[in-house]
Amino acid sequence: MRWSQTLIPTMKETPEGAEIPSHVLMLRAGLIGQLMAGAYTYLPLGLRALRKAEQIVREEMDRAGAVELLMPALTPISLWERTNRVEAFGNVLIKFSVRRQNKQVQMALGPTHEEVVTDLMARHVNSYRQLPITLYQVQTKFRNEERPRFGVLRTSEFIMKDAYSFDASLEGLNKSYDAMYAAYCRIFQRCGLAYLPVEAESGPIGGDASHEFMVLADNGEDSIAHCSNCGYAANLERAETGARAVTAAASAADQKPLTKLETPNVGSIESVCKLLKCKSNKMIKTLIYLADGQPVAVLVRGDHEANEGKIRRALKAKRLELAESDVIEKVTGAPVGFAGPVGLQVPVWADHDIAGLENAITGANQADRHYVGVNLGRDYQLEPGRLADLRNAAAGDPCPRCAGKLEMRHAIEVGHVFKLGTKYSEALDARFLDDQEKQHAMIMGCYGIGVNRIIAGLVETRHDENGIVWPMSIAPYQVILTPLNVKQAEVMQAADKLYQELQAAGVEVLLDDRDHRPGVKFKDADLIGIPLRVVIGDRGLKDGKLELKWRTKPDAEMLPLAGAAASIAQLVHECLAKENTV
Ligand code: ATP
Ligand code: MG
Repeated sequence: MRWSQTLIPTMKETPEGAEIPSHVLMLRAGLIGQLMAGAYTYLPLGLRALRKAEQIVREEMDRAGAVELLMPALTPISLWERTNRVEAFGNVLIKFSVRRQNKQVQMALGPTHEEVVTDLMARHVNSYRQLPITLYQVQTKFRNEERPRFGVLRTSEFIMKDAYSFDASLEGLNKSYDAMYAAYCRIFQRCGLAYLPVEAESGPIGGDASHEFMVLADNGEDSIAHCSNCGYAANLERAETGARAVTAAASAADQKPLTKLETPNVGSIESVCKLLKCKSNKMIKTLIYLADGQPVAVLVRGDHEANEGKIRRALKAKRLELAESDVIEKVTGAPVGFAGPVGLQVPVWADHDIAGLENAITGANQADRHYVGVNLGRDYQLEPGRLADLRNAAAGDPCPRCAGKLEMRHAIEVGHVFKLGTKYSEALDARFLDDQEKQHAMIMGCYGIGVNRIIAGLVETRHDENGIVWPMSIAPYQVILTPLNVKQAEVMQAADKLYQELQAAGVEVLLDDRDHRPGVKFKDADLIGIPLRVVIGDRGLKDGKLELKWRTKPDAEMLPLAGAAASIAQLVHECLAKENTV
């Protein structure tokens, strides 16, 4: 491609509204252009990178035995009603109605395709002989993101590779899942992404049933707990904490008397700490939840965050939500902010760290009053089995798998694999007959990759102060050819010749034929991040030489003009081969 004939609108300045490197660089390098919040055009360079990521995804899906199809983005709302997901998605689902022959037809744009693919299977598959099968597509998804941001990392319209496995047994599901997990590792490796699979919230099947593929990045919206000692990694929603050396509750001699203090208008942890001059890790935070509609109290240390997934599982509740203020007032007899375990009449659960708290401070279930000197066993009791891991992991917590400590990191979710079980196949009647002619619901898994996020994740993690640093596998072009002065006939002749030869040798090459100063062209070449730069100038030509520079290396090297196309093609292919070794 000749630069003068394509559209690469590079920019010198940081575009307004772009906060993080990937967003800034994707705009500045002319990869994307914004139409409105959450909607971007992929310009020619961006599209080339995107297509390459899609190609790698397809190759690895096919290699893993998945089969490609293409489902419509336009779906009937009735399908989502059958799985209760109109309600579950809420405002995220883009719904509308159209008129067809005087009838209003309700539709939704697919935010994901479990319903559509399960309905398809229900219609066409009914025997164990047709299973297992994994179907996939690369397609546009629509989600009304409340806060689209960070460029193509979070948009309302994005390209997802979504795959769905259908099995006749749980062992079958495990095999399908493992095949997708392995394919994901190969995909992200080949794309040049430094990825980390982490345990994620798993839903109905529980256990080891969901993993997210994360790219560590300071600007990532996900938090993960990671142990660098043993490699344990989990999404914060999911991360367990290891057993800790709990100091035994205070001996009777150390226990201070239970004392009620006046704390007028002071309800939050911070304000109580300020007033009583104490640290938040001395406080008991008492949260009132409704577990399947029944009020319960959950205690976590003042400096910790309650984890609703863990609480729901510990309580074996189907639904869990924080109680509204009227329920809290009824349960505690006090306004919000003054709840505490002493004298509380609802079931009380506590996080492990509560057991180690002596002479704690907590609300007194009375307006404007707190207790100090609160001790478990003396001032309030816990029924056996009600001490559990109920909070988010925090930096410095013991690792649940080894003697190491957890670190907290930010990350970008690029992929997600999930054992679904029979939720959708039951709801949409996707059943099969086994070899005894008995009917069962198909056992499903689902597997998503955000293709846009592969690109944004790469730019976010692979750039320097001059611009993007693409891996060869995803780079929009492998080589950029830079004639120093396009007005010199012999320079342009040599450049054109090399351009033709490189293309004939299968190299993807961008010829910067613009009539610009060399400095401008070098800056742009660095900005758009093409892995290999080849410079052609009149002085070099006189010596029969070209200048070759890797984007990743500080210095250029000279290359003989004779046989240059073959040597450059070889360098490109060696580099690709190295990246493809997984
Ligand atoms: P997030 O938590 O970031 O909103 P999600 O967990 O809802 O994502 P999934 O339903 O697991 O997303 O979708 C599969 C993949 O699609 C994600 O791993 C991510 O890479 C990508 N993805 C999801 N939402 C978006 C979005 N709004 N913009 C771009 N990519 C997205
Ligand atoms: Mg996800």
